Amino acid sequence: MNMTIAISTCLNAITLTLQQHADEVAELDQAIGDGDHLVNLQRGLTALTQDSSSLDKMALPEALSKIGMTLMSTMGGASGSLLGSMFVTMGKTAKNTLADFAGLVDIYAAGVAAVKARGKADIGEKTMLDTLIPALVSLQASVRSNDSLMQAMQSLQQAAEQGMLSTKDMLPTKGRASFLGERARGHIDAGARTSQLILSAIADEVI
Ligand code: ADP
Ligand code: MG
Ligand code: MG
Repeated sequence: MNMTIAISTCLNAITLTLQQHADEVAELDQAIGDGDHLVNLQRGLTALTQDSSSLDKMALPEALSKIGMTLMSTMGGASGSLLGSMFVTMGKTAKNTLADFAGLVDIYAAGVAAVKARGKADIGEKTMLDTLIPALVSLQASVRSNDSLMQAMQSLQQAAEQGMLSTKDMLPTKGRASFLGERARGHIDAGARTSQLILSAIADEVI
């Protein structure tokens, strides 16, 4: 078990999982969005990967801020500004000294709060927040009950998956999918799926 994983290791794991699920993710945004979510994310990931050796050398606050600014300037789409804000805010919250697990959860909590504020959205609106928030709740519960890192990561993966699946029957009230109204029911939200794939890939690296 290893809590200090390199950013480049995470980026490689995320790139791989998105490649493995590329068709599925593309189809999700084609069904109830404009079909570009996978390409937007991959554009951001490519830019980050080009920078990964310098990201690995930076202190955590600088690295998170740099990730956020890169995502904002390269991704485009709603997800670009949302994920960009998330990482810029996490960069502001992070301290230079290496955080313990509870500290990392606090940084993630600030990132999720930034997505909520930027998107004016909350749980239950069929967006990435339906993955990000249950994941946060699970992490905070793990901190409270002093779970092992292994237990915490397994609970995180389960919570993120449940949250992602919960978007299927939801009525969208934010983002492009909201234009479809009832016709969007029955489809999983693309951003919820990619957020779950990303969190799960990172958790696998930690375990
Ligand atoms: P766009 O919708 O501009 O084409 P993307 O396709 O890259 O951007 O991202 C769409 C995803 O962004 C959705 O699947 C949803 O998860 C997320 N999203 C859209 N609007 C919001 C919002 N207001 N709050 C949170 N997440 C949102
Ligand atoms: Mg889209
Ligand atoms: Mg778009």
